[in-house]
Amino acid sequence: MQASHCIAVEPLTVVSDFEGASVGDIEIDQAARSINFMPGGDPERGWPCWWYFRIDGIQPDETITLRLHGSTATVGKQKPLSASWAMPARATHSIDGETWLHTDKGQRDGQRMIYTLKPDAASVYVAWGPPYTPITANAFVRLIAEKSPHAEAAELCRSREGRGVPMLYVREGELETQKRFGVWVQARQHAWESGSSWVAQGFGEWLISDDANATWLRQHAEIFLIPIMDVDNTATGNGGKNAVPHDHNRDWSPQPHWNEIMAAQRKIGDLVGEGRMDVFLDLHNPGPGDASFFYVLPRDMLSEPMLSLRDRFIDLAYARISKMKPLIPMSNKPKVTGANYHPLWRQISSNWVSMNGNPHTVSLCLETVWNSPNSTTEGYRAVGANLAAAVQEYLAERPAKP
Ligand SMILES: [Zn+2]
Repeated sequence: MQASHCIAVEPLTVVSDFEGASVGDIEIDQAARSINFMPGGDPERGWPCWWYFRIDGIQPDETITLRLHGSTATVGKQKPLSASWAMPARATHSIDGETWLHTDKGQRDGQRMIYTLKPDAASVYVAWGPPYTPITANAFVRLIAEKSPHAEAAELCRSREGRGVPMLYVREGELETQKRFGVWVQARQHAWESGSSWVAQGFGEWLISDDANATWLRQHAEIFLIPIMDVDNTATGNGGKNAVPHDHNRDWSPQPHWNEIMAAQRKIGDLVGEGRMDVFLDLHNPGPGDASFFYVLPRDMLSEPMLSLRDRFIDLAYARISKMKPLIPMSNKPKVTGANYHPLWRQISSNWVSMNGNPHTVSLCLETVWNSPNSTTEGYRAVGANLAAAVQEYLAERPAKP
């Protein structure tokens, strides 16, 4: 008699046994087709704000509900991380793990953020933002090297946990190394900031394109591009930021803890030694309410020509990125990372490169907005392409190397 109410529906299940996955405190309400969860991740390995998992057992045409709670995990006596870091206005989802789309806007319900989606597939990946793991970085670097005779799939180093750190190396033509501008672009010193890797990817895609300015840049510079610095926390779904003993972007000291920083310092030191550390860019995602912006050292810490060159580069980059369509909100006011910002401010990469670079070095951190409707793989990649075009425009104004 009740049979019509008991049609066998496959249970929803949560799967997180793959690279970059992170989820905790799972409770599935099979009747409501809804999943309670919070980010996984070990807080000793960084802010637990990143989440990424797969849901199996979805019926055709059904709508499922994600009920996200901020992580309650803590380090020592510290308070849990503010939930806002884990709660984008729109979650990200994908059927095939390649094309990433936003959900509709989530609704806040007390402590939880509620997202609904109708995947029309038996399985769906859901995440804080578009994932970008070491597998993605490897595939990207290899693909670009296959596509372009001017690009090489290289490795910065091996991580502490033994993972390769993929690096793209680009140069074209016969101009001798000593006469080339040195350009260093790195992303993901903070593992949860997945958008920054997509910005790096967009930079690399523009760089090997047929655009005449991209050709000029390849012919006049050598470019080092690292889409993921903290491969270990990225692979294991940990947040990275504020990891113990300190995160990658507080490790630029004379004795770095992380292999990636040791290797980067050595190569950047070589460029500095040759007077060719021209442009250093460190890519991040900012706070939940922030537009895109650059982080810089206070003006009174820099002397000429570094100060004017830095301002010129910021103007060129801002002019391009702020005019993008669809819009990626950007502030033309850089924020300052000096002594008042963090006790380890000298060990922040862009500060370290400024303070240890050449007199003409431009060294900046770009924070790309993550909580906007256009913070998608396309939006991030467009930021990277515009940033690369700004690097070309800037270097074309500089005198040739003697
Ligand atoms: Zn960051």
